[in-house]
Amino acid sequence: MILKNKFIFWFLKLLGFEVIAITIYPFIILNFDEIPKHDLVRIINHEKIHLAQFKELWVIGFYFLYIFYWLKNIITLREVKDIPEDAAYFLIPFEIEAFLNESDKQYLSKRKRNEWSRYIKKTSEIKQTYLETDQKNNKS
Ligand SMILES: [Zn+2]
Repeated sequence: MILKNKFIFWFLKLLGFEVIAITIYPFIILNFDEIPKHDLVRIINHEKIHLAQFKELWVIGFYFLYIFYWLKNIITLREVKDIPEDAAYFLIPFEIEAFLNESDKQYLSKRKRNEWSRYIKKTSEIKQTYLETDQKNNKS
């Protein structure tokens, strides 16, 4: 179910999170005023991928693992200097699955159960690349 709610985004902004969409099972909440029309389908697809992840992890498992991977990324990436600002968020396996497949409108119909878990390895690989690049840059 898609909801339009400004208050939640105002509240998240106060907490330091600037987002235009959020999924809190079973709702997808959108900040319509901030979403360009041509991005709407892609963003809704992104959030629907999160709904599928929520469902297969019985909701509570999703929250638990989401926070777990986010904190793990913050800790493992804390000493990397050359890194995009929101890397800890973008490298959560749930987000990698959603970002890499959000433009594919057929994705959800062909998606396998617990597909997000295939992206755990990808998270580690990308983190390793950041760490190695950072080490090289600091040596020279
Ligand atoms: Zn997301």
